[in-house]
Amino acid sequence: MHIQTHFLLSWLVADQGESVSKRDLLIVTLCGVGPDLDGLGLLMDVKTYHLWHHTVGHSIFTGLLIFICIAFLMKNIRLATYASLSFYLHLICDFLGSAGSDGYIWPIYLLWPFSLEKFLNPYQWPLASPINLIVTSVAMLYVMHRASVKGYSPIILFSKWLDFELVKVFKKWFRKT
Ligand SMILES: [Zn+2]
Repeated sequence: MHIQTHFLLSWLVADQGESVSKRDLLIVTLCGVGPDLDGLGLLMDVKTYHLWHHTVGHSIFTGLLIFICIAFLMKNIRLATYASLSFYLHLICDFLGSAGSDGYIWPIYLLWPFSLEKFLNPYQWPLASPINLIVTSVAMLYVMHRASVKGYSPIILFSKWLDFELVKVFKKWFRKT
């Protein structure tokens, strides 16, 4: 799915429970968006992109590594669980709906680096599908509604001031002034 969809869904995973710290929100959200860093090869050329995309960032072992690192280095099982959940949700979303407009089904190398077996979903819908648009729109509406209730939005990860101003708007929209 698109990066903005991953961002919104990861935020929803991150923002569970009361008084989640900004650090934890950032870590869990990044773990849901970060897998696509293996697509940065596109900055070099298409061949590098196709060689690396859906490999290191989309391996189940990377998710496991994230869990182990956070659980043991940060000694935080709760954070490790949400971070890996966010990561695996990204993989599921890509598996479901990230086909090319030409019908090309993106394989995911779930067992990378131990195996280069391609995992293909023959029912994968295109990235530009209305389904992805609906998922993104519903997630965005839900995120905005939650922001109006909780008093902060994902924008807090970038700017406290902008988040404050946006939440004011969301509160108006959802009549919570
Ligand atoms: Zn991805």
